[in-house]
Amino acid sequence: MIPPIASNFVAGETPEAAMAHVDDLNRRGVRGILNLLGEHYDDRADADADAQAYVDLVRALAARDTDSCISVKPSQIGLDIGDEVFEENLARIVDAADCLVWIDMEDHETTDVTLDAFERHARETDGNVGVCVQANLKRTRDDLERLADLPGKVRLVKGAYDEPGDIAYREKARVDRAYREDLEFMFREFDDGIAVGSHDPAMVSHARELHAEYGTPFEVQMLTGVRETAQFELAEEIDVYQYIPYGTKWFSYFYRRIRERKGNALFALRAVVGR
Ligand code: FAD
Repeated sequence: MIPPIASNFVAGETPEAAMAHVDDLNRRGVRGILNLLGEHYDDRADADADAQAYVDLVRALAARDTDSCISVKPSQIGLDIGDEVFEENLARIVDAADCLVWIDMEDHETTDVTLDAFERHARETDGNVGVCVQANLKRTRDDLERLADLPGKVRLVKGAYDEPGDIAYREKARVDRAYREDLEFMFREFDDGIAVGSHDPAMVSHARELHAEYGTPFEVQMLTGVRETAQFELAEEIDVYQYIPYGTKWFSYFYRRIRERKGNALFALRAVVGR
């Protein structure tokens, strides 16, 4: 069972718990992006099992008629085992899905294979897939030029991986500047499909200004347990999706959330000491 302090960031251990969480969000105007926790499998059986879990999930979502989609990590469905394992499993999931299938972006060594897989499915499904790109990578502006001509959605994030300085901006202020510039490019060059994957009020405000200037539609995506009041408030005016991790592998995800931010650590500490 997930202890109460961790359950702020994770919707539960089962798909049923995650879908119940989506139902609650939908009632409050926020849509869901479900993510089964798991990554970096080196055993094909594990990758195949999670791919099958996603196939079962998208079928359950279609039957339940919720306002939601899914997000998958390449290394969860076999990328560390081989490109072809990842591609086979991704195709299984995309083929089974009525809803949009997001592909998360992992470290820079996976960028090319991830974007190639996205491009193939974006063309084949006429845009029923999405991909994440990271503003901290210096290559991202070029990648956005390629993505601007494709159907499908693109989520811009700042980047969660500790990348080397020759390929990535490492100072927060420089990453923030790149994020703003990438957003400007997207609002100027994309027809639609822009997702602002950030909790940063400055980036959300910038997106709203760009929307007012260019008229390009966009959505905001934030994580379960982070700035949820803001998510519900924003949803009164714009499209908001909550990225919802669930599953039994919750401990390392919870630990990352706690490590990355003092506010989360204080929240956990208050829960432990009961204040
Ligand atoms: P930060 O730059 O960390 O913080 C900026 C400001 O945002 C803060 O000053 C504060 O005002 C506010 N803020 C941030 N966190 C909190 C908090 N916990 N509580 C209150 N206020 C807060 N990364 C990848 O590399 N690949 C992915 O596929 C990927 N997918 C993602 C999907 C979603 C939906 C989201 C939201 C993030 C994803 N990320 C992904 C992570 C991302 O790269 C960043 O590491 C992470 O979002 C932190 O950057 P930030 O823009 O949210 O804000």
